[in-house]
Amino acid sequence: RQAGYAKLRDLPAETKDGKRIALLMNAGLQGDADALRLTNADGIGLFRTEFQFLVAATLPRRERQTALYKAVLDAAGDKPVIFRTVDIGGDKAVPYMREETGEEENPAMGWRALRLALDRDGLMKVQARALLDAGAGRTLNVMFPMISEPWEFDAAKALIEEQRAWLVKRGRPLPTVINYGAMLEVPALADALDVLLPKVDFLSIGTNDLTQFLFAADRANPRLADRYDWLSPSVLRFLRRIVRACEAEDVPVTICGEMGGRPLEALALLALGIERLSITPAAVLPIKAMVRSTTLEPLRAAMTGWLDAPGSDVRALLSAAADEAGV
Ligand code: PEP
Ligand code: MG
Repeated sequence: RQAGYAKLRDLPAETKDGKRIALLMNAGLQGDADALRLTNADGIGLFRTEFQFLVAATLPRRERQTALYKAVLDAAGDKPVIFRTVDIGGDKAVPYMREETGEEENPAMGWRALRLALDRDGLMKVQARALLDAGAGRTLNVMFPMISEPWEFDAAKALIEEQRAWLVKRGRPLPTVINYGAMLEVPALADALDVLLPKVDFLSIGTNDLTQFLFAADRANPRLADRYDWLSPSVLRFLRRIVRACEAEDVPVTICGEMGGRPLEALALLALGIERLSITPAAVLPIKAMVRSTTLEPLRAAMTGWLDAPGSDVRALLSAAADEAGV
């Protein structure tokens, strides 16, 4: 099976009916850049910058952040890398900030990610400078985690733009283009897309946190791991709304949660109209195999019917359709 997958490395992730799917990978450390070469993914759709903060004994200095981002961009070459600004705090509390982050009753819903970064903007400014320096002369893609309301996107973007203006004044080299994206992980944001989407260059749906909040079920609690189905109509209808809104605004939308790395779940996402998945490196070639054996159009029509009908068992229906089609 492994050898079979290896043969897929240089083949396009294209369905039988000619739909090209972008298969990107998730990463977080410098060594992950090797996986990009091994899997030949289309780029890094989620670079979790907090990993560097989590493995360090003290807050990483700007030079170290710049060096990491630059190394990742160099390794990626012409392929895009999307840097997510730090998602620390909550259950990803870093020891050297513990005094500040403190103990929380509900860390996943606590003072974390962009919430923390906007309040402690010194942290975010340093990261912005590191990203701008690393991206000098090339395209820089940045996205912000855990946005709950559109103003948080504005504030985060303004912070980076301020640093850019500072560098401009000093005649320092800058990225040629900066694309700004929002992560949709908080359900409330799905009802603010009319305000959010005109502001962003891209949207990335973090289904790990999103489903945790949709079901009110701790993603880290093994007792709940199999209790709720990613293929339930509640999740799929929710995602469909987001996809439709993005299509209407012409905003590229990616799924970057673990869901996209599981073949049947990924198939459901394609059937919803998702054309970009960012997944764990080990899943890139197996998902490519799935994509290449799929004829998408009939599945898209079937998915619409299943979700419009009450109480469909989408897992069973999709699984049967996939078996029948030899996916
Ligand atoms: C997510 O929440 O789906 C996501 C991709 O971010 P993380 O897993 O790092 O929280
Ligand atoms: Mg998340």
